[in-house]
Amino acid sequence: MHAEDFRGKSFWLGTRPYTPGPSLSGDLEVDVAIVGGGFTGLATAHFLKQEEPSLRVALLEAEVIGYGASGRNGGFSMTLFGLTLSITAARFGKARAREAHLYMERAVDLLAERIATLGLDCDYEHPGFLRVATSEKYRKRILHEIELAHSLGLEGIEWMEADRLGEEVRSPLYLGAWWEPRCGILNPAKLAWSWKEVVEGQGVEVFEGTPVRQIRRRGDRLELGTPGGTVRAGKLVLATNAWSHLIPMLRRKQVPAFTHIVLTEPLGDRHFEEIGWRNRQGIEDARNLVHYYRLTADNRLLMGGRDISVAFGRDMDRDLNEEVFNGLERDVRETFPVLRDVRFTHRWGGPVSIPVDMAPAMGYLGDPRVVYSLGCVGHGVSMTHLNGRTVTDLVLERSTDLTEVFFVNRRTIPWPPEPLRWAASHAVLGYMRLEDRVHDPR
Ligand SMILES: Cc1cc2nc3c(=O)[nH]c(=O)nc-3n(C[C@H](O)[C@H](O)[C@H](O)COP(=O)(O)OP(=O)(O)OC[C@H]3O[C@@H](n4cnc5c(N)ncnc54)[C@H](O)[C@@H]3O)c2cc1C
Repeated sequence: MHAEDFRGKSFWLGTRPYTPGPSLSGDLEVDVAIVGGGFTGLATAHFLKQEEPSLRVALLEAEVIGYGASGRNGGFSMTLFGLTLSITAARFGKARAREAHLYMERAVDLLAERIATLGLDCDYEHPGFLRVATSEKYRKRILHEIELAHSLGLEGIEWMEADRLGEEVRSPLYLGAWWEPRCGILNPAKLAWSWKEVVEGQGVEVFEGTPVRQIRRRGDRLELGTPGGTVRAGKLVLATNAWSHLIPMLRRKQVPAFTHIVLTEPLGDRHFEEIGWRNRQGIEDARNLVHYYRLTADNRLLMGGRDISVAFGRDMDRDLNEEVFNGLERDVRETFPVLRDVRFTHRWGGPVSIPVDMAPAMGYLGDPRVVYSLGCVGHGVSMTHLNGRTVTDLVLERSTDLTEVFFVNRRTIPWPPEPLRWAASHAVLGYMRLEDRVHDPR
């Protein structure tokens, strides 16, 4: 990749100067090797060095830090685990749905705390989160979710009626909203690069432009082959997210799906007079294939979602989808008609990691020397940070409240091989699209 090519992968990756660090050249002997320079890998590196400063830790990233989903996402720090609370309850039972939500609350709080304590430079704001109802069916869906949350004893979520919502954000589509003040928004690429500075300060050796091409178990060591040299490690953490199916040990645990984003020029006072949104909440709707939207630090409107792209086999080149981009631009104008003449300046996409049951998974692979973490679907900004803490406990072979949560060392359902995988993911996607059309015929 050309030195600056990563910047085209998202608006965020162009918002501050960044010079990638060196690639690995020569052989290396470490206690722990981490593969993947997104939030999972960075948070794991941070907590490992915090817990055991004497460990020699190397982090290996194929491209640049933040090149994956971590440098391209919507920047919502939110409490959603998997797809919805009720789907989690149906799949794992109510007690575990509650456990998952509490884990996510802890994740959001941990991220806010780390940002404040370490002074991570990422334009963090704490405006809360709205899940808006855009049709009667979605209003009922959200009310049902809130009722379920309350029945599980979860707090901090309430229904906001349409007139009260209109005092916050005005759209002709809104019929009310789920309101959750706990959540935040941030600039994800700045966060990833700030994390890199922190972990390097802790003594972690970070190598960019260093793809791990082979992994072998050799006696009591793990051997990682990269173009510039071999890394020998006592323990290995696989933090490769949507790329994980390319690693033989993880092949069937997840598949990548690509979500897409459009971004406007900075909005002006006349737009805000009409829309309100002075409190700058992060917003999603309640579709299966959600829209997510927010303001950036310089008051651009970012909207993502609407539909996703599915890849076949090893293909990881599905970031761009003209049909979805055009649809998102129409959706921005339909949501806020005052933006009919606004200019769009950026379009991008990125891969999210999807297990068969759309719920995150992490744990040991074979024996305690290899730990993996993946499958945050589209909701990993906060979760990957607490996962980094959990992975640390797994690496150190400590049994803690974090390693006891039900999705650690859970049995995952394997994806079938291609072409069945492609057919299965299209069947699920087709159903989700159809249901969205029924719920909101617009
Ligand atoms: C467009 C988009 C919008 C999203 N919006 C939100 C949101 O608003 N809120 C939210 O909570 N979540 C969101 N998500 C999801 C969230 O971004 C992810 O869950 C999270 O960033 C995953 O972090 P990670 O570190 O696990 O993976 P990644 O950030 O994807 O990092 C994995 C890294 O591993 C590297 N890698 C892979 N294979 C190798 C190898 N063999 N050798 C070396 N390196 C390798 C990759 O290059 C990559 O940098 C979004 C995702 C996308 C794509």
